[in-house]
Amino acid sequence: MKKHNFYAGPAILPREVMRQASKACINFADMGLSILEISHRSPQFAAVLEEAEALTRELLDINDDYAVLFLTGGASSQFYMAAMNLLAADGTACYVDTGAWSTKAIKEAKHFGNIEVLASSKDKNYNNIPKRYKVPADATYLHLTSNNTIFGTQHHWWPDTEVPFVCDMSSDIFSRPIDVSRFGMIYAGAQKNLGPAGATLVIIRKDLLGKVEREIPTMLDYKTHIAKGSAFNTPPAFPIYVSMLTMRWIKSKGGVAEMAKKNKSKAGLLYREIDSNPLFVGTAAKKDRSLMNVTFLLTKPELEKEFLEMCAAEGCVGVKGHRSVGGFRASIYNAMPRKSVKVLTEVMQALAAKHA
Ligand SMILES: *Cc1c(COP(=O)(O)O)cnc(C)c1O
Repeated sequence: MKKHNFYAGPAILPREVMRQASKACINFADMGLSILEISHRSPQFAAVLEEAEALTRELLDINDDYAVLFLTGGASSQFYMAAMNLLAADGTACYVDTGAWSTKAIKEAKHFGNIEVLASSKDKNYNNIPKRYKVPADATYLHLTSNNTIFGTQHHWWPDTEVPFVCDMSSDIFSRPIDVSRFGMIYAGAQKNLGPAGATLVIIRKDLLGKVEREIPTMLDYKTHIAKGSAFNTPPAFPIYVSMLTMRWIKSKGGVAEMAKKNKSKAGLLYREIDSNPLFVGTAAKKDRSLMNVTFLLTKPELEKEFLEMCAAEGCVGVKGHRSVGGFRASIYNAMPRKSVKVLTEVMQALAAKHA
């Protein structure tokens, strides 16, 4: 039976990418060897790293002021690495608290300097992105989480400030065009919209580095990885390879502008169903709704088990909401076909036909 994968992460990847990746597990680049058993110093893998970087630059229109790195340790390691590398002990970094991931980023950054939380939507269980706050002009950076995977909110605007943004884009990287020049640093764990867990994409403006006095362990210093082209130690070859294939796929489909169009259309379909179906209600403030993670509740919570069973019967998996929001979450990343979203809306309609 066809499965429609609505999991939040690790998450759906394009079928074509999976097919190519599975071939590379047997015979990579006609070497007669698997990509899992070759040297990361081989010319064949060096070509993968090079293409992954080139595609990142091309898709997001990134110039040479920025380094593009593929690291390990997940987005969670960037919570401390960003502050360790960028924030002086007597400096101040500003954070906006928009959910569980922001909270973790704040906690880790506090090890390294002064952290000022400018705004939080915690009092509303993070159902919105705070808008009214002022960014002190002397802040080292402003940390944002562009898409809040758990709470289903997304930044559809950027604060008006000269302070560079450090942004966790784990769950919406490559889902839409962005003006990279506004950002000092962007980071993303691969496993939401890019590839398998294990690789972390870091895009960083090089002139922001080398300004802190503290000793930084070699592996945690961005300069190490810039100097060695993401191959100081053994890089996660397979996750980088699959991420590269996904970027090729994005490019072949017309790039991030085309992704954005499709993502709007898919999310629109689902939000229209939520707003018109008497059995469902969205949890996020309308203007902050995420195009990647759609969170919603049943108006008759007693129907939850039946709804999830009906979803499963149609092959819709991963729809149960995160425990901190409850209800349901449909993650509809780049690789999610509109057809699959349609199937989910039909299940919602079928439930309403029975119970509304
Ligand atoms: C999943 C997620 C993370 C955590 O990523 P790891 O790679 O597991 O460390 C951080 N931030 C956001 C926004 C996420 O969605």
